[in-house]
Amino acid sequence: MDLLFRPAHELHRLLRRREVGARELAEAFLARLDAVEDKVKAFVTVTRKLALEQAAAIEVRLARGEELSPLAGLPLALKDNLCTRGLRTTCSSRMLAEWVPPYSATVVERLAEAGMVLVGKTNMDEFAMGSSTENSAFFPTRNPWDLERVPGGSSGGSAAAVAAGEVVYALGSDTGGSIRQPASFCGVVGLKPTYGLVSRYGLVAFASSLDQIGPLTRDVTDCALVLQAIAGHDPRDSTSAPVPVPDYVAALGDGRLAGLKIGVPKEYFPPGIEPGVRQAVERALGYLEEAGARCEETSLPHTPYALPAYYLVAPAEASSNLARYDGVQYGYRTEAEDLRQMYRRTRRLGFGAEVKRRIMLGTYALSAGYYDAYYLKALKVRRLIKEDFDRAFGRFAVLVTPTSPTVAFRLGEKIADPLAMYLSDLFTIPVNMAGLPGLSVPCGFSNGLPVGLQIIGPPFSEALLLRVGYAVEQAAGCAGRWPALEVGSDG
Ligand code: GLN
Repeated sequence: MDLLFRPAHELHRLLRRREVGARELAEAFLARLDAVEDKVKAFVTVTRKLALEQAAAIEVRLARGEELSPLAGLPLALKDNLCTRGLRTTCSSRMLAEWVPPYSATVVERLAEAGMVLVGKTNMDEFAMGSSTENSAFFPTRNPWDLERVPGGSSGGSAAAVAAGEVVYALGSDTGGSIRQPASFCGVVGLKPTYGLVSRYGLVAFASSLDQIGPLTRDVTDCALVLQAIAGHDPRDSTSAPVPVPDYVAALGDGRLAGLKIGVPKEYFPPGIEPGVRQAVERALGYLEEAGARCEETSLPHTPYALPAYYLVAPAEASSNLARYDGVQYGYRTEAEDLRQMYRRTRRLGFGAEVKRRIMLGTYALSAGYYDAYYLKALKVRRLIKEDFDRAFGRFAVLVTPTSPTVAFRLGEKIADPLAMYLSDLFTIPVNMAGLPGLSVPCGFSNGLPVGLQIIGPPFSEALLLRVGYAVEQAAGCAGRWPALEVGSDG
């Protein structure tokens, strides 16, 4: 039986009916990993032994006739900035290359309770700074649809692992697009939840007011299932929101969106957008109308300022969060003659170029004399961006946009030009700046490469986003189409 590209909800049914065993499932995915991982390079750490042990435990529970939760026994991957007790958590940085956390992130604990089978920790841009996974200190990850292209980033390893059939689903983190953009590039579903819906406890911080953890999955139903498992209040994260968690799967509906008002912000269709992306998104607007929704053009006038404001706020917070990597408290240290030299050399050798660039930008923006002109100004712009969205949600239930202006680009294409790289998050960054949820759903292809549609809603509207995403998925017919990645050929 071909198990690899089935969504979680189908595999759960097979497990429950005893048509497949948990061990058989884990072995099938590990065999797939053995066959494709040399090409894709999605993983920093593979936890084969752990996966088989966890699968054996599920097997015992199945044999006893226990009721299993919907994700039990389904192989998954975690981005390597999610702390896993006793298991190396690197952030794809030399700084943390050998760091073993003494505790697990709340999301990891929740998945463990749900019966997780962990296949490994995935590659990422160092400290989640980047859009292509090329900023990993270890190696770049490749896009399973075209091995000469990037998988997106920073959660590129997680997106590629799902698209390549190495796991059923994965978790990533999204500060300015790092779940949605790689989901779009790899043809998977990716959700950045509302700020505060999912606990950040145990997520290595990049920019604390923007970071959120979320799922990367094969389809929208799986996205609802994974969100269900990880969402909800956590007293260990002071920014975690004490809100009720609805039944996301029940809310998916039947693909009909009668009377739903959808706004299409014109700032998200600039002249530079790739024609194939524009066409796929316009087709998706057609699907939404056929499902009964009404799409209407609107405007979010402060959109052009989101990217520059983000590149002040995010580096400012990063410069503060990354101060702790000093050679004393965590991970990597170089020997030196005195303490100051030790700090300096540790940070020079431990961090890569992009991380250092962000620390310098952030330190500058926060320094006396520049604080008002840069950081404080950026916070004011952030407020205006939020107010644009508030106004739009007075008229529209959700907004739809392309997830990224392009499909996956070539390895090396943007790495020498940080500004070109930053632009690939043009459409995802405003959502983090406003603390909103954003869902990327595959909506078509451009030259054989996947295109993602982004659906944005008001705070805590995940159930509605998933319902709209489900309707697009039903109509677009992309679910079930996966990269060939011919094993044994050159792709
Ligand atoms: N690419 C953006 C950046 O480099 C967003 C990264 C992210 O969401 N973690 O900051």
